[in-house]
Amino acid sequence: FGALDAFDPEIAGVLLSELDRLRGGLQLIASENFSSPEVLTALGSTLSNKYAEGYPGRRYYGGCSEVDKAESLAIERCKALFGADHANVQAHSGASANQAVYGAFLKPGETILAMSLPHGGHLTHGTKMSFSGKWFDAVHYGVDKDTEDIDYDEVERLAKERRPKVILAGGSAIPRLIDFARFRAIADEVGAIFWVDAAHFIGLVAGGAIPSPVPHADVVSFTTHKVLRGPRSGAIVCKAEHATAIDRAVFPMMQGGPQMHTIAAKAVNFKECATPEYAAYTRQVVANAKVLAQTLGEHGIRPTTGGTDTHLSLHDLQPVQVTGVDAEARADAAGITLNKNAIPFDPQSPNIASGVRVGTPCVTTQGMGEDEMRTIAELIAKAVVHGDADPGHAVSREVRAQVSELVGRFPAYPRAGAA
Ligand code: PLP
Repeated sequence: FGALDAFDPEIAGVLLSELDRLRGGLQLIASENFSSPEVLTALGSTLSNKYAEGYPGRRYYGGCSEVDKAESLAIERCKALFGADHANVQAHSGASANQAVYGAFLKPGETILAMSLPHGGHLTHGTKMSFSGKWFDAVHYGVDKDTEDIDYDEVERLAKERRPKVILAGGSAIPRLIDFARFRAIADEVGAIFWVDAAHFIGLVAGGAIPSPVPHADVVSFTTHKVLRGPRSGAIVCKAEHATAIDRAVFPMMQGGPQMHTIAAKAVNFKECATPEYAAYTRQVVANAKVLAQTLGEHGIRPTTGGTDTHLSLHDLQPVQVTGVDAEARADAAGITLNKNAIPFDPQSPNIASGVRVGTPCVTTQGMGEDEMRTIAELIAKAVVHGDADPGHAVSREVRAQVSELVGRFPAYPRAGAA
């Protein structure tokens, strides 16, 4: 890291050891990915220095000629990528993007209908710990007990009973496609705004691997760092009629100065997402997730809903009598990073959980395919069912050696000149 090595060896050391950690293990967190060196270059640029409150051509600071170009490119590329009327690329994160959507459409105390957190929603969808549940009247739908997929009849019933101002679809642990047309019809029936939080799956939409919510929804918020593979940030697209409300809600209602280096990185990412290579990547992400889910199921680690249509699957560990928290620790000891997750109707508390969530964005970026997914499922099963949280345990050591061999063949951020 050049001068940083000399000036701050402690932080330079952290940067290097994090790179080693990424390279040395299997990264299966469904919400993570490896951004390209080009995206990282924009993130590490002098655009970080610039104050640019406002929007391109309408700033509250001088000296914005160059950052205006970056933001205009990000906006135009984002609109083109999703076929959207309007894009706001200033949200600092997924949670900030969501805050702005609340700000644009709801007054404190008004009602929103959203997916419940334990059934796959997100903290910002009206949970009591979040601003969204403290300041708004949140009503929650869940999944059907038999199919474990969204209970659309319940959505319709609650919409008619509670007349929400906004209906929200999307979440953090939904393995199946969402029926956006059905949501739109329900929203129209009760005169609600239809909002999709597409944070998890927007990358698959960008690559054309799954259908888009954009033609159906009034507004779509998302993160840019998951399957999409951009910088850690957020964005919002919406219908033309909501453009002013969204822009005013992002700035000045919720945020101050935009992070121009991150906006430049988003522009780079949107350009990457428009390539045939990225489209092929998203198809492979889904193909990999299907095989991983199915093979884990063959090892007794049951995929909820019977599988997945997206980049992630949620697994019920009750058949193998392991808790989510133990599975996460055992996998970690074996060099496999995944996360414990509540499953619908989970008998355990969220801190223990009966499930794990796995995702294929990272391993697919590394170039792995279906064969490697079968191997990964075997390694997870070995670690989770027979392993231990102690990295010195024989099973942890054995699986770690196999993980090391596998990631050695598909390195993350390959070193220049490496095979
Ligand atoms: N919305 C959904 C559906 C998410 O999954 C997440 C993050 O995981 C967010 C919003 C929040 O994004 P961030 O962590 O960037 O605030």
